[in-house]
Amino acid sequence: MVYRKMKMATKKNIALIAHDNRKQDLLEWVKYNKGSLEKHNLFATGTTGLLVNKEVGIEVTRFKSGPLGGDQQVGAKIADNAIDFLIFLWDPMEPHPHDPDVKALLRLSVVWNIPVACNRATADFLISSPLMNEEYERLLVDYESFRNEVLG
Ligand code: PGA
Repeated sequence: MVYRKMKMATKKNIALIAHDNRKQDLLEWVKYNKGSLEKHNLFATGTTGLLVNKEVGIEVTRFKSGPLGGDQQVGAKIADNAIDFLIFLWDPMEPHPHDPDVKALLRLSVVWNIPVACNRATADFLISSPLMNEEYERLLVDYESFRNEVLG
């Protein structure tokens, strides 16, 4: 398997997404970690970003609301190396109209090997990692050369 490296800067580009039943959880987490999060660039899907901005008073670049394509916009930014960190509190108890987008976003997070937290405990561990304040090189499977080898 061939790997290549992708550099994450000290200042991370962090996307925040919370389904409606998880928004309170995310807001509490963002409030608690405001000091750490302010050192990074924050992005969010529409409603999540609006709430974070209003309730925590922190700058957030907003995409469209999740069900209107926001999750897919975040996925596209991950593929462009413009987002390199994801806090995604998705709802494990209810189906959503955009469930395929949720799956696609989680898949891209794995493809591009970015840190992802889907619950608060993981988010706590990630935000307290010393790597939050350092550069980091993500290893990526080089699927393109793999495909070229296989396809000739
Ligand atoms: P929202 O989208 O932040 O606009 O509520 C989140 C989602 O449902 O993916």
